[in-house]
Amino acid sequence: MKIKSKIRIGLLFLLAIIMLLAASGSYYINTLADESKDILKDNYNTLHYTKNMIEALDDPNKAAAFNKFETNLIKQENNITEQGELEATKIMRSAFEEYKSNSEDYNKAADLRSKILKIQEMNMTAIVNKNNVITGKTQRAFAYITILGTICFLLSFTFVVNFPKWIAGPIIEFIRGIRGILQKDYSTRINISSNDEFGEMALAFNQMATQLEAWEHSNLAQVLFEKSRIETIINNMHDAVIGLDENKYILFINPVAESLLSKSETDIKGKYAPDIAAVNDLLRTLIQELLPGGKPATNPLKIYSNGKENYYRKEMLDVKGKTANGDNKLIGYVIVLKNITEYKELDVAKTNFIATISHELKTPIAAINMSIKLLKDERIGAANDEQKQLVENIEENSNRLLKITGELLDMTQVETGNIQLNINAVAPSHIVNLATKAVSQLADQKQIQINTEISNDLPNINADTDKTVWVLVNLLSNAIKYSGEESSISIKVDKEDGNVTFKVIDHGIGIEEKYLPRIFERYFKVPGSKTGTGLGLSISKEFIESQGGQIGITSKYSQGTTFWFSFKSI
Ligand code: ADP
Repeated sequence: MKIKSKIRIGLLFLLAIIMLLAASGSYYINTLADESKDILKDNYNTLHYTKNMIEALDDPNKAAAFNKFETNLIKQENNITEQGELEATKIMRSAFEEYKSNSEDYNKAADLRSKILKIQEMNMTAIVNKNNVITGKTQRAFAYITILGTICFLLSFTFVVNFPKWIAGPIIEFIRGIRGILQKDYSTRINISSNDEFGEMALAFNQMATQLEAWEHSNLAQVLFEKSRIETIINNMHDAVIGLDENKYILFINPVAESLLSKSETDIKGKYAPDIAAVNDLLRTLIQELLPGGKPATNPLKIYSNGKENYYRKEMLDVKGKTANGDNKLIGYVIVLKNITEYKELDVAKTNFIATISHELKTPIAAINMSIKLLKDERIGAANDEQKQLVENIEENSNRLLKITGELLDMTQVETGNIQLNINAVAPSHIVNLATKAVSQLADQKQIQINTEISNDLPNINADTDKTVWVLVNLLSNAIKYSGEESSISIKVDKEDGNVTFKVIDHGIGIEEKYLPRIFERYFKVPGSKTGTGLGLSISKEFIESQGGQIGITSKYSQGTTFWFSFKSI
């Protein structure tokens, strides 16, 4: 049944009850009215006629009196309603006829009057009886109407109490269902099986919930599948992977990370990483930059695992994700420890190889140099100009070879961490003097003027003289190499903020800004630059920093370059 029909039936039911009450009420009122009318018509008229007859008897005008009496008597004869009234009326007529024949007879008049009074009496008794009957009927009608009213009231009350529930019940059920869906409880169903619109709506709702449930399960299954796939990938990686949330709580660690940290995932998952780092050295190194004032570790980490030394390069990735309002927000960190042991071993093999070759080359080069010296000696025979030139060339190339092998050997020292330092207090001017002497010939070849400006009263520095001279020579050689002929180079040594700073300033070709960040990298050469190994500056950096000093550069392309290094003054 449709809701419209249900409401219509409900209203019809109420209307029917009202009609029933109204009909029964009007029925009883009508019945009582009819009864009263009968009294009026039957008995009251008789009383009226007999009263007129008695008045006629008292009228001295006999003719008019007889006439009035006759008229009322005829009306009475036509208004016989009570049992015995017909006989009494007939008796009254004969008494009237007798009175009419002898109107002076007082007894006749008295007899007629008594007959009239009898009829009056009869009707008054009838009125009392009828009144009693009506009173009884009125009481019964009242009782019936009371019973009917009570029944109607009970029915209406039950209806009024239940009808809204009947209509609103399904709506409440729908509200429950919709709330369930809102709370993502897709197993919510609506239990209405009626044939009305609510039943249809419930069917549609349940179908929707079924589809949502299926969709969620398929989505969840998909997400779980993707999650387990990613977990499998991460767990099978040869690199150690650690995931943290944005508040530095550990989300996951893979088996490699477990073995390196000597911690199982179940032990530390969900824990605050800095708390674990307080008792785990490796984790502390890994999350150094996340700790207050911590700096990221730049060198490869040497970790002893699987019975040997392994090298790992650490990468810390900031993971960003989109928030609900579209902002890109930090949602966590991933720490990856890349196993670079293999490369490290290859690198060591390469370094050893270079060291061996450089070392082995030194002896033949020294022999060549010795031979050149002998060739240049006039005592073993004079050479012509062409031969002299050839010997010069051989010497020049042999020196270059010596420089290169020297640099390569130094490099291998740096790479293997075998820099032997011989730190002593030394005067900055001493270092400058040794270096300028070493490059004077080179400078002279290009007629380059080297100006030295050393501040007065400079304190000594703690440094390895040979290594520092080597660096200054390297910087001066580069300055000469990349400066034009007949130009000038300055060496300035100053005291700045408790440091002694050496500067080598040239006015040569300069270096483009984009290459400056890479200038101290191993084997880096500015594209198109002259011959060289690209090692000098990186060795210089290692030499200076291993002594606790600092090194840097400022350069303007095609205007000149300034290299500087500084040591703490004593
Ligand atoms: P190399 O031995 O090849 O000169 P370096 O490490 O000493 O290697 O220098 C690296 C690169 O830096 C060089 O190839 C050169 O291009 C550039 N460079 C170094 N010093 C200067 C300078 N004073 N002026 C211009 N370029 C320079």
